[in-house]
Amino acid sequence: MQAALKRTSMTLVRWFDSWAGTSNDKSSHQQTKAIDENGAASIDWGRVVPFLAMHLSCLFVFAVGFSWVALIAGITLYVVRMFAITAGYHRYFSHRAFRTSRVGQFVLAVMGASAAQRGPLWWAAHHRHHHEFSDQPEDIHSPTQKGFFWSHIGWVLDRTNFRSRIERVKDFARFPELRFLDRFDILVPVLLGVSMFLFGVALEKWAPGLGTNGWQMLVWGFVVSTIALYHGTFTVNSLAHVFGRRRFNTKDTSRNSFLIALITLGEGWHNNHHHYPASARQGFYWWEIDVSYYVLKFLSIFGLVWDIRPVPERALQARRIGA
Ligand SMILES: [Zn+2]
Ligand SMILES: [Zn+2]
Repeated sequence: MQAALKRTSMTLVRWFDSWAGTSNDKSSHQQTKAIDENGAASIDWGRVVPFLAMHLSCLFVFAVGFSWVALIAGITLYVVRMFAITAGYHRYFSHRAFRTSRVGQFVLAVMGASAAQRGPLWWAAHHRHHHEFSDQPEDIHSPTQKGFFWSHIGWVLDRTNFRSRIERVKDFARFPELRFLDRFDILVPVLLGVSMFLFGVALEKWAPGLGTNGWQMLVWGFVVSTIALYHGTFTVNSLAHVFGRRRFNTKDTSRNSFLIALITLGEGWHNNHHHYPASARQGFYWWEIDVSYYVLKFLSIFGLVWDIRPVPERALQARRIGA
């Protein structure tokens, strides 16, 4: 009884402090690592209640009604946060494919955190793990190893994948501001949700012609947009290893897909990316649309980012299928 109570209270605490009960912040994380990773894969239902509740909350669209301004807010937040995930969490924190200042790094981390895909350290560490073991038995989200559902969403809910695997992101874990964001990963998404609500309240008061209000802005602007963002991002782990064409003979099942590249601002060129992950560019040719890369190039004009790593000519020619 007491053990069950302790487990439940720990689950609640971890909604707010994702590091509670782990030793991410100490050098003894090896011990937790052994406990976590020897456990069988299973969904931690208590811990994922907020994630499931967010999905169910999409149904509130029928209660709050529709307005164009709320839809546009949702689409804008989708695009801005997708950029933060692909350019920030993925290309910067996971692969160090370009450089920026410490402030620039923090801005990318906060914007990425607002997507509610946990903290930058958790995201980058799990992604580095994926590249090391792509489609091998150890891969945490391979559709060829554990099935499509698991690669898309199951692995995110798995109790063995909650720990931030700090040992894989020591380069960024030395920044206290990033550790803070990673530990209290619910903070930024909650602030964004509240801000959207207040924005809707303000519009209702000062621009009633737009026909929106706080609840509508919260549901369309934050909830629906965040759920679309989850599944847009997750397609890279699931569909981009199943659906599309292969240009390079990589040791995994990664594929290139124009459609996935469109909804993920460039991440659909996943076979390219597995072939040469160090590049900030995933569309290797001008016809391979890669919006995140274009935005990074644009930001580099103002000196906000620099050392954007290109694809070397030898990488373009190596291991080509049918060449
Ligand atoms: Zn992959
Ligand atoms: Zn990657």
